[in-house]
Amino acid sequence: MQKAFAEIDLKALSHNLKIARQKTGNKNILAVVKANAYGHGAVEISKHLVKQGVSYLGTAFKSEAIELRESGINTSILVFFDRENIDEYFKYNLTPLVFDLSTARKLSKEAVRRKRRIAIHIKIDTGMGRLGFTIDKALTEIPKIACLKNIELEGLMSHFSDADLEDKGFMALQLKRFLSLKKEFQQKKFGFKYHHIANSAAVLSMKDAHLNMVRPGIMLYGYGLSKGDNLRPVLSLKSGILLLKKVPVGTPISYGRTFITKRKSIIATIPVGYADGYSRRISNNGEVIINGKKAPVVGRVCMDTIMADVTDIPGVNMDSGVILIGSQGRVKITAQDIAERAGTIPYEVLTSIGQRVTRVYK
Ligand SMILES: *Cc1c(COP(=O)(O)O)cnc(C)c1O
Repeated sequence: MQKAFAEIDLKALSHNLKIARQKTGNKNILAVVKANAYGHGAVEISKHLVKQGVSYLGTAFKSEAIELRESGINTSILVFFDRENIDEYFKYNLTPLVFDLSTARKLSKEAVRRKRRIAIHIKIDTGMGRLGFTIDKALTEIPKIACLKNIELEGLMSHFSDADLEDKGFMALQLKRFLSLKKEFQQKKFGFKYHHIANSAAVLSMKDAHLNMVRPGIMLYGYGLSKGDNLRPVLSLKSGILLLKKVPVGTPISYGRTFITKRKSIIATIPVGYADGYSRRISNNGEVIINGKKAPVVGRVCMDTIMADVTDIPGVNMDSGVILIGSQGRVKITAQDIAERAGTIPYEVLTSIGQRVTRVYK
């Protein structure tokens, strides 16, 4: 019996990076590896991306960036959401994303104390409504930051609020706001080296937003806007079978007895559950692949196990492998499929894959 493991296809990762490069005409890539590289394993994924020459990595918090530094990665890392213990930015040579004046001042003070400079990126709120200087504030506050000692304005960035892009109207407005600010600062001769606003959705479908750096996340892991994006899922979630049993008609399966067999059945118990990121919301609504065929998940998803009705799977035995996410022959289940059934998005499905799931790289 093999417990659940995630197989990470580094060739697929290279392929997806290549698509990002093709789409942008080789703009600088800031590869987003936050949340354990969307569940894929931040250290291995980052090392592979660095080998492929990405210019920058992006994490949400310093702790994630420090993990990468401690594994020997020296590439620049932009930290999106962290203004605690700013001395760590110096100690680990990380780039803070700054969205308020007081943090900029603290960084300047610490840089002066250490007799060195620190590169920062500044975030503009063009409509996301989360973090960043609004356009009005940017015009008054950023010149103040520019005057602070030992601060290097390396990047100016913003973030789109519409990730799926059905209607590009609001993205276009956000971009317009950002570009007008960029122009304003260029006229004032603030030398930002990088300007960036494009997430995966914009990399794939909004050329004007590519500027001189892009920040793809989800597309690197194989999920884009449509099939036409030609991306390849990087992660497969697999498992062995813990037990196969024949049960009579009328047998209740799992907590709450929400499924009762309507025929003589063969039920497989599979050692993966919601603690591994296999959402409880797909109770009685999931599917797994065994021997190239789909079998329904029956009963509630438990913390550590699920049950599948494998009565119709030819040749199933205790050595049969189970694919929860991935493909076998022409049969496939993607994180997108699971997300639809669970009422969420592939980002959540991937980042929920738990610590008990070993990542295997190939
Ligand atoms: C997560 C994140 C991204 C990547 O977004 P995707 O939709 O995964 O491409 C880019 N920029 C910032 C600031 C982020 O937080």
